[in-house]
Amino acid sequence: MRRVALLGATGSIGRQAIDVVAAHPDLELCALQSRSTPLDGAAATHGVEHVQVGGDPVVLLERSRPDVVLNAIVGFAGVEATLWALEAGVTLALANKESLVAAGELALAAQARGGGLLLPVDSEHSALHQCLEGRPRDTVTGLVLTASGGPFRGFSRDALADVSAAEALRHPTWSMGPKITIDSATLANKGLELIEAHWLFGVPYDRIEIVVHPSSVVHGLVRLRDGALLAHAGLPDMRVPISYALTYPDRAATSVADLDLHDLTLSFGRPDEHAFPLLALAREAGERGGTAPCAFNAANEVAVAAFLEGRLGFLEIGDVVAETLAAVDGAAARDLDELVAADREARGLAARRLQPA
Ligand code: NDP
Ligand code: MG
Repeated sequence: MRRVALLGATGSIGRQAIDVVAAHPDLELCALQSRSTPLDGAAATHGVEHVQVGGDPVVLLERSRPDVVLNAIVGFAGVEATLWALEAGVTLALANKESLVAAGELALAAQARGGGLLLPVDSEHSALHQCLEGRPRDTVTGLVLTASGGPFRGFSRDALADVSAAEALRHPTWSMGPKITIDSATLANKGLELIEAHWLFGVPYDRIEIVVHPSSVVHGLVRLRDGALLAHAGLPDMRVPISYALTYPDRAATSVADLDLHDLTLSFGRPDEHAFPLLALAREAGERGGTAPCAFNAANEVAVAAFLEGRLGFLEIGDVVAETLAAVDGAAARDLDELVAADREARGLAARRLQPA
């Protein structure tokens, strides 16, 4: 029996993870956590012993002694849980990409000490993990992440000036929580995923491509030195990567339908980095290193929250992030305290930019 601690249990990933665990006889939920949504119903239905609403997720993890931590908290708030699991050598199934973006170096150092597994739940990275598995690194020449392009694919910069939060929340292919849905509309999500892929697979940024692929059927591709290109395809359904990470390496069956290849047309295009500047800003932050990715993430979180509340325009999300990145020194964080300080500083700079002059 594999004991799963599920953080962010009430969210989009969390609810799907509960279904995956319930469908698999060898998985058991030992802990559930949310920020403020009650968990009594889910805990009773699934017989979960350790439940925590609010507070420090690490306290719950220490109490519940899981075999796997599924971190599906949204945002930088997931960073302590990520570092705890990696340090303890407990398998980490990671949906919370923001923690790896912000704390990449600290996370890899913690994993090297802890010696546990880090399994991506993000669909693109799960796909890449599967294509890369067992492959000598010197045979791999590049990674390709696909992006749906979001609800505003094909929009010019001018056309994006007046789009509303309600329009941005209508994602064409994935049903997700509000923060990642806005990130998908700005392409900040693909920027976060670029940095996430760099840390997960140790591939330099200039060897990670982003292509727009509207139907979200091909999730990731790996280029090999002999000219081969391996692609991972399937219906866009997060239960597949969640199940892969929770049952690794057994790859348990799921109830997700097979992809029907008849009448299927695939198209791939170039992202419009002029209309969607957050992708290039993420690449710059990643290449700069240190705490620049942490600042990118922090400013983006502040700006997205303001956009969702109607206090900021869509295009200004990119402006806030660009101005914040220009204002921070980006010096590397030697420990979690320094990282939290860098996150806080970037949030302060971004929040100041939001106030009317
Ligand atoms: P949701 O907004 O749907 O859910 C977020 C969850 O995190 C909720 O359970 C929420 O609890 C909890 N939470 C929020 N803030 C805190 C906090 N400060 N401390 C502790 N818990 C908190 O998000 P998603 O499920 O969409 O996304 C979760 C993560 O997975 C994100 O990092 C996202 O980028 C990533 N991801 C999501 C995908 C998807 O399909 N949804 C796909 C790939 C990655 P409460 O209900 O109490 O607010
Ligand atoms: Mg993804």
